[in-house]
Amino acid sequence: MLRIIVLGAGAGGGFPQWNCGCPNCGRARAGDPQARPATQSSLAVSADDGATWYLLNASPDLRQQIAQTPPLHPRVRGRGSPIRGVVLTNADVDHIVGLLTMREVQPLAIFGTPRVLQKVQANTIFNVLDSEVVSWRPLIPGQVTEICGLDGSPSGLSAKAFPVPGKVALWLEDPRQEDFGSAVEDTVGLELSSNCGKRFFYIPGCARMPTDIADRLRGAALVFFDGTTYTDDEMISCGLGSKTASRMGHMSVSGTDGSIASFAPLAVARKIFVHINNSNPILIADSRERKFVEAAGWEVGSDGLEVVL
Ligand SMILES: [Zn+2]
Repeated sequence: MLRIIVLGAGAGGGFPQWNCGCPNCGRARAGDPQARPATQSSLAVSADDGATWYLLNASPDLRQQIAQTPPLHPRVRGRGSPIRGVVLTNADVDHIVGLLTMREVQPLAIFGTPRVLQKVQANTIFNVLDSEVVSWRPLIPGQVTEICGLDGSPSGLSAKAFPVPGKVALWLEDPRQEDFGSAVEDTVGLELSSNCGKRFFYIPGCARMPTDIADRLRGAALVFFDGTTYTDDEMISCGLGSKTASRMGHMSVSGTDGSIASFAPLAVARKIFVHINNSNPILIADSRERKFVEAAGWEVGSDGLEVVL
C-alpha cells in the first residue's frame, strides 16, 4: 500500500501569497470557503503503512505542514520523527527551503540528482544540516533508487527520476547563458513505486509534454502534475508579473499545448493538479475554470488530501 498526503498544493508563494492583493488572494485571506488557502509544494509518502514517511520536496511551509499532519508528528517522548528523508525534484526555493526547518540534528537522507545536490550543498547555509546525521544521496536519472533512511532500513519505497523540460532554479539563473544555464538534470519528475507493486508519478514542474514523457505516463494509476497557471500569460494578464508560465518552466493547464490537452489521450486513471499558483482560477472552487478541469477528469489538489494506492 502507498499512502500519499498532499502537504502543500500551492506553488511558490503559497495561497494567499504574503504580498499579493489579487482577487484570488483577497478571497482566501477573507476566509471565503470557495478559496481555501494552500501552502507551498510538497507531498509526503509512506510505503510501510505509515511507519515511516518521506517528503517529496521540502517547502518553506514545512513547519506548518507537519503541525497540521498528525501522521508526521513525533511518536517518542524525546526527539524523533517518522520523517526519514526527502526526495527533491529541483532546487527551487519552494522545494528546498524546508530542509532548513529539518536542521535539529535529525537523521535524514536527502535524495536529488547530482546536479541539484551539488547546487544545494554549495550554498553553505545548508551546512546547518549536521553532516553527522544527514546524508546526501544521488538520484541518477533513469535508475531505480531504493529510498531508505540513514540507518538503511528499508521503507518499501523506490524512486526513479527522469528529466522533464524545465528551467534551472530562479536563484541559479545565469542571464549570460543560453536558456539561463539550464541543464538536463535541473528538473526531474519522479516515479515512485512500492514493494507491493503500486506506483505513481509526481511532476510538480514541467514546461512541455514531449513524447517520451507522454509514453511514460500512459495508463498510469495516479499522476500529480504541474498546475501552476491556467493560461500561459496569466501572470501578465493579471498584472502580477512579466513572465509567462513557459518562461518560468511550467506548462499551462488550458490551451492546445496545455496539460489537459496533453493528457487527454494518455488514459491516466487519476490526475491531480499540484503546485498551483495563487493566480490560477482553478483554486477558486466555484470558478468556471475549476468546473472545466473537473469536467475534463482532473482533480485540484488541496492541502491534507490523502490518496491511498
Ligand atoms: Zn494573488
